[in-house]
Amino acid sequence: MGSVVDSSNKANGSALANKKVTVIFVLGGPGSGKGTQCANIVQHFGYTHLSAGDLLRAEMKSGSENGEMIQNMIKEGKIVPSEVTIKLLEKAMLDNGNDKFLIDGFPRNEENRAAFEAVTGIEPEFVLFFDCSEEEMQKRLLGRNQGREDDNIETIKKRFKVYMESSLPVIEYYNAKGKVRKIDAAKPVEEVFEAVKACFTPVAAS
Ligand code: UDP
Ligand code: MG
Repeated sequence: MGSVVDSSNKANGSALANKKVTVIFVLGGPGSGKGTQCANIVQHFGYTHLSAGDLLRAEMKSGSENGEMIQNMIKEGKIVPSEVTIKLLEKAMLDNGNDKFLIDGFPRNEENRAAFEAVTGIEPEFVLFFDCSEEEMQKRLLGRNQGREDDNIETIKKRFKVYMESSLPVIEYYNAKGKVRKIDAAKPVEEVFEAVKACFTPVAAS
């Protein structure tokens, strides 16, 4: 049943409307392995990885007028206003020649989700959800030592709270639409990637 009007990417005034892109949201708690597995997906399946957190940190370091605000939000584990994050994601997609993107760590709340959809007209192909216990995530965050200002126990607790209260509902929203592919992310990296691969490999027609 094909629709007469192509309703994908029906953005209002977004330059992205003219660029047909495939987007997969990669979600899961802090330390669930999103970044690690995205690097693997890039290698195997040719997607471009856009980490919302990395884009915000780069924006912060670039000396932008929002730099101080972003730094404060990240330090408190709070969610940066949608407008800021969406602009960075839009620009990254427009500046890149690729047409398939992994958006990692976004949307983080319902408002992020609704605003992204409204502004870009993009709906994700599916949502890759890394499911992991808080205990395991905390262990990883405290052990990774990447010099991040938010990988201390105080901020980690705040990030977990925001994740439970604000981000899980986004995953539930997409789950209700049948779009979530859930991965047991507590296993070793190689095993997790085996499960990830299965999500990207089309099932052979029978
Ligand atoms: N952040 C945000 N909006 C986003 C993504 C990240 O506000 O869409 C902020 C938020 O303060 C978050 C921090 O950046 O706690 C780190 O996010 P990142 O995704 O890098 O970390 P992760 O939770 O994946 O370890
Ligand atoms: Mg990350």
